[in-house]
Amino acid sequence: MKVPYIMTPGPTQVSENVRLARALETTNPDLDPQFYDFYKETCKRIGEFLNTKNEVRILSGEGILGLEAACASLTEKGDRVLVIDNGIFGEGFADFVTMYGGEPILFKGDRQREIDIKELKAFLDVDRDFKYATVVHCDTPSGVLNDISKICPLLKEKGIITVVDSVAAMGGEEFKVDDWKIDIALGGSQKAVSAPPGLTFLSISDDAFNAMENRKEPIASFYCNLLNWKDYYEKQWFPYTQSISDIMGLRKAIDNILEEGLDNIIERHHSIAKATRHAVKRAGLELHIKDGYSSTVTVINVPSKINDKKLRNHMLNNYGVMVAGSFGYLEGKVIRIGHMGENAKTDKVCYTLFALQKSLEYLGFTPKVDMVEEFLKEQ
Ligand SMILES: *Cc1c(COP(=O)(O)O)cnc(C)c1O
Repeated sequence: MKVPYIMTPGPTQVSENVRLARALETTNPDLDPQFYDFYKETCKRIGEFLNTKNEVRILSGEGILGLEAACASLTEKGDRVLVIDNGIFGEGFADFVTMYGGEPILFKGDRQREIDIKELKAFLDVDRDFKYATVVHCDTPSGVLNDISKICPLLKEKGIITVVDSVAAMGGEEFKVDDWKIDIALGGSQKAVSAPPGLTFLSISDDAFNAMENRKEPIASFYCNLLNWKDYYEKQWFPYTQSISDIMGLRKAIDNILEEGLDNIIERHHSIAKATRHAVKRAGLELHIKDGYSSTVTVINVPSKINDKKLRNHMLNNYGVMVAGSFGYLEGKVIRIGHMGENAKTDKVCYTLFALQKSLEYLGFTPKVDMVEEFLKEQ
């Protein structure tokens, strides 16, 4: 398999040391106490990455499993849940809430802007009777970034448990679980963390565990039941056999992040994203988002008369660069360049912009500037 540059907003390129870590010898993860220690230490390091002292667990399943597990474990029949929605993932939480018997109440924001804190505050002044609230940090299909540092403290002030999907932001944006009062923070292996897909991890606060323990009805799931994980270490028992090689890869990816340093990583993403937006705008292309730009993905409106599939295929077939389209209401309307994790590097983004430039020219849209040059000037 000849692997192209995967410049998509996840899955991302995986570094060699992560790939090699997945090839190391494995033990029986159910029975070997060494693995319990390894898992515990990995969770501790993820906690460092998330800036939290809360409990962390890694579940065997892609990011969606974490989202569903949070809703399954918290929702009881008839619970009112606030679903903060300014994007496809934001809105999607309503399905999980409904599935587990809750009543989702949607707070809808402009889909091209970050959630307006004043509007949310005004909404909460009228209605605050929610067991928990869900919000997405970076809603990847549009690339909009929400200010979790303001949203979650506001919700907690009203006594609402906070659930944040930061799958596509953490590792590329500042993310402070304890300072920002996030009860359940959700991450995935395949975005800015730059490990292969297959794992989700989450931090769980005491408030969140208490809400689960004080339920009247049992949690209507086994795989999604977070309480099953509470005392895994004391009991030396996992709810199911752990994907040990995946976890060994994730551990290396987290170590890579901690070694580079969180501040350095955030700065690297910020400067790459800023330069990318600058180059795209100077070229005469239009950014999809009006405010709330994520440092992990740049979403560009496809110029009229250009077909998004043809553009992406041309980039892939002629330059070996894969960028993404989008889905739902954005299908065919935008292309997305993922510059997250291992992909947030000058050389990779330069080559991607080169491929974009040449492909646009081929298809009849002439960028006003050389995007690579503009990108490098701004870097
Ligand atoms: C990628 C992603 C997930 C995980 O789901 P996928 O199946 O990979 O789409 C969850 N939330 C967000 C915001 C994501 O970007």
